[in-house]
Amino acid sequence: MVAVRAWAGTAGPLAAFRDYRPLQRTTSTFAGTIAHPRTIDGRMSDFAQTLIRWQRTHGRHDLPWQACRDPYRIWISEIMLQQTQVDTVIPYYRRFLARFATIDALAGAKLEEVLALWSGLGYYARARNVHACARILVAEHDGRFPALAEEIARLPGIGRSTAAAIAVFAFGARAAILDGNVKRVLCRHFGITGDPASSRVLAELWSRAESLLPAARVDVYVQAQMDLGATVCLRTRPHCGRCPLHDSCTARREGRTAELPSRRTRPPRPQRHRQMLVLRAADRRVLLEQRPAAGLWGGMLVLPDYDGEIDELAGWLAPRYGLRPSAVLALPPLRHAFTHFTLQISPWLVDVEETSRRLGESTARWADASSLDALPLPAPVRRILEGLAALNPLPAACAGAGRSG
Ligand code: SF4
Repeated sequence: MVAVRAWAGTAGPLAAFRDYRPLQRTTSTFAGTIAHPRTIDGRMSDFAQTLIRWQRTHGRHDLPWQACRDPYRIWISEIMLQQTQVDTVIPYYRRFLARFATIDALAGAKLEEVLALWSGLGYYARARNVHACARILVAEHDGRFPALAEEIARLPGIGRSTAAAIAVFAFGARAAILDGNVKRVLCRHFGITGDPASSRVLAELWSRAESLLPAARVDVYVQAQMDLGATVCLRTRPHCGRCPLHDSCTARREGRTAELPSRRTRPPRPQRHRQMLVLRAADRRVLLEQRPAAGLWGGMLVLPDYDGEIDELAGWLAPRYGLRPSAVLALPPLRHAFTHFTLQISPWLVDVEETSRRLGESTARWADASSLDALPLPAPVRRILEGLAALNPLPAACAGAGRSG
């Protein structure tokens, strides 16, 4: 029997693109100072004009992907910025571009290296799609981005709004975007109710976004929408007092900023539990397994999962890896939130001895602590391993524990 102890340490149709010109008058229910977002003779709407003016003095101008027309750099930034804050993205963006300066360089890389540079940023399907997309661009587009948003949107992992942003910033196209920030601003400003993810509200938002699009300076306008959503019209506690749309905003006027956009009625996020094993050899290397290419953490290196009783570990390790546990230590539990569930992780540090060479038959491999930075590890796995590395000296896992039978 292996002795176990708890660790006491700390630790569709794409109508919005280049040649699109809205012709019909918008019949807005908005009762503010903007009577019609876009006039029928094509003059710029007050909404667009206000935002363009505001962006010049209050918008963001020094982000690393700005002041550049390179569709590759713009694409990488737009993908990284999905579901992720600017401050988090910047160091990842810089490292990624330093390693993969061109589409060709990215297409020629191994997926594992791409995932390693994405490690910690989350939503790893983005990295897999970026890699697949680069290979398609090289194979089918001579290593260049198509200029039309409709064509860009056919590439893997690039939706309609992202395609429009790339076309606008890289090729000067006239196309509407509708990311989460823009949806929030439009719902509040025009008092649009209903779930923004529903097809009805989504169609209304796209229609609104297209009708507001100015004929010129579209890049400034699109940047202004992004900036307003990210810095002023925040999800909680928007800064209405310094918002350029203050006077015309329905939600602000009616005191409904907290209820717009309407929240989806979601069931509570389910909890899942998983035991992860830090299988540590005498030379301090740990065992990592590669996940299948698709699905959760696809292609990443993870700690082996174990769903049995910890005192039955020996019977599980031997046939699977040819390993025998000599001591086991319970590490502090941690939580990791995914979009659709929360993962409760119970990590175990297990000192092991090799009894046979079974490893070659699995997707597992030994990794040295000094190589962790270069490996594609999901954030909680990295946290567990870095927590161990920070302990100096490493705790002996239940020194003197009896050997398992
Ligand atoms: S006034 Fe407030 S709610 Fe309305 S768009 Fe501006 S920040 Fe958002």
